[in-house]
Amino acid sequence: MICRAPAPQFLKQHYSSNVLQTTFFKQPSTMSALIQFKQITKVYGMDNTEVRALWNVDMTINSGEYCSIMGPSGSGKSTAMNMIGCLDQPTDGEYLFDGQDVAKLPETELAHIRNRKIGFVFQQFHLLSHLTALENVEQPMMYASVRSAERKERAASALEKVGLGNRINNRPNQLSGGQQQRVAIARAIVNNPLLILADEPTGALDTQTTQDVIDIFSELNQSGITVVMVTHEPEVARLTNRVVWFRDGEVLNHHLDPADLASVTAVPVS
Ligand code: ADP
Ligand code: MG
Repeated sequence: MICRAPAPQFLKQHYSSNVLQTTFFKQPSTMSALIQFKQITKVYGMDNTEVRALWNVDMTINSGEYCSIMGPSGSGKSTAMNMIGCLDQPTDGEYLFDGQDVAKLPETELAHIRNRKIGFVFQQFHLLSHLTALENVEQPMMYASVRSAERKERAASALEKVGLGNRINNRPNQLSGGQQQRVAIARAIVNNPLLILADEPTGALDTQTTQDVIDIFSELNQSGITVVMVTHEPEVARLTNRVVWFRDGEVLNHHLDPADLASVTAVPVS
C-alpha cells in the first residue's frame, strides 16, 4: 500500500516547481489536445493469425494532463503507448500529436518528433550499462547534435533535478533500482519534452521507491509537462488525475475517476 507522503527532501531542495516552470520546461500555451486518436486501429498478423490490438479507438489527452492507462493484460495498453510515442503506426485511423498528423509520417520524421517532444521511461530502465549516469542522460542530446560542453551541463542539471547530483559518475550497476529509474527520468526530460510516456515505471520498484518516482512525475506534471503512464497498480493510478481503462483493444472508460479505483483489485501484470 502506498501512502501519499510529503515530497522527499531532495525535491524540495532541487526541484521547485516555480524554478521548473520558468527555466526548464516548455509551457503549454493553452489546455489543448496534445494526443488525439481518431478511429485508430492496429492489427498484427494477417488472415487467421490476425490480432486486433486496437479497434476504432477515439481518445484525447490534453496538454498538461497527468493520466494513467489501465486494463487487463493483452487489452492494448502497450500498443496504444507505442502509438502515442510515435514508435509504431496505426493500421488505420488518424493520430494527431501536438496538432500534427503523424499516422503516416516516414520513420526519420517520427524519430525527430520522439527525440524533441517525447521522453520515455520504461519498467526496466533501459540504461546503457557501460556508461555513467551523466553519459546515459547525454544520449538523447547526441541525437539532437548538442555540443559536448552543453550536453554535460544539461545532463548534470537534469540529474540534479531528480536528486542525483552526487551520483553523476556512477554506472547503473552502482545504483539502486530507484536511482536507476531516476537516471532514466533525467534522460527523459533532458531535451525538454512536451510529454513523458512511462510504461509500468514502478513495476520493478519497492513501495518507498515507487513513491519517490511518482512524486517526481507529479512535480514534472505540475511544472506543465503532460504525463501518461501505464500501470497495473491502483495505488499508483490513484495519484494521477484520470484513468483511461482499456479492454479488448477498446477504451471502456475514458474518464475513470482515480478515486473510484478504491474497489478495483490489482490488474494482472502484462
Ligand atoms: P497490454 O500492454 O495491454 O498487455 P498489448 O498492447 O501488448 O497489451 O497487446 C494487445 C494485443 O496485441 C495482445 O493480444 C497481444 O498479444 C497482441 N500483440 C501485441 N504486440 C504484438 C506483435 N508485435 N505481434 C503480434 N501480436 C501482438
Ligand atoms: Mg503491456
